[in-house]
Amino acid sequence: MTLAWSAAGATDVGRVREGNEDAFRADPGRGIFLVADGMGGHAAGEVASGIAAQVVHAGIASALDSGARGAQLPGVLREVMLEAHAAIVTRCAGAPEMRGMGTTLSAAVVEPSGGLHLAHIGDSRIYLLAEGRLERLTRDHTWVERELEAGRITPAEARRHPLSHILTHVLTDDAKPVFDVSSRAANPGDLLLLVTDGLYNMLTDAQIAEIATSGLPLPARVDALIAEANRAGGTDNITSILIEISG
Ligand code: MN
Repeated sequence: MTLAWSAAGATDVGRVREGNEDAFRADPGRGIFLVADGMGGHAAGEVASGIAAQVVHAGIASALDSGARGAQLPGVLREVMLEAHAAIVTRCAGAPEMRGMGTTLSAAVVEPSGGLHLAHIGDSRIYLLAEGRLERLTRDHTWVERELEAGRITPAEARRHPLSHILTHVLTDDAKPVFDVSSRAANPGDLLLLVTDGLYNMLTDAQIAEIATSGLPLPARVDALIAEANRAGGTDNITSILIEISG
């Protein structure tokens, strides 16, 4: 079986922020998709997410173009995440005003042979919508998610927790990055969704699933997700990529 796919992605500043510190890449020709959400003063967040998106996309593209496939790709993903970290460290070295900048990064690589490889750090998310069910394929690297997993707070408490935005892992100029790499199978009919927190914090899982599976063309579904997040407040930058996999 050979998989095919189509994809659409967009980013929006939202209704409150002055600049957009999110970045994304959608490269359906190669099957590379990623979102990044930067943070830092003096527009440094934009620099961090921009560097990470560029380095990770270019690194995966070059490996695929040289023939990397299947079981080699998790290693490729680990390597490019470390390269993105190194590029952020280098950018900050000569620029004190950039110190402390950081970014989330959630990347998915889909292979025609059916492989799906993910790399993830921070609190952007990758969802899988299969048979009408929305499943999250990434774990938020947040203080709240850690407390939730340890059973110290309830899901209801987590949703409204004042510390919900505190990240435990992120690509930044100091700490060695702690990130997740995983692989699984992709199947015809799967719908993959990559989003930053500006999208999922504004919408319920049910709203996300309903818009993502509506009969509209993919770009219109992406626009509708962003429009709905803006209608719900748009308090942060909003980024969304939808990938529809067929047989
Ligand atoms: Mn955000």
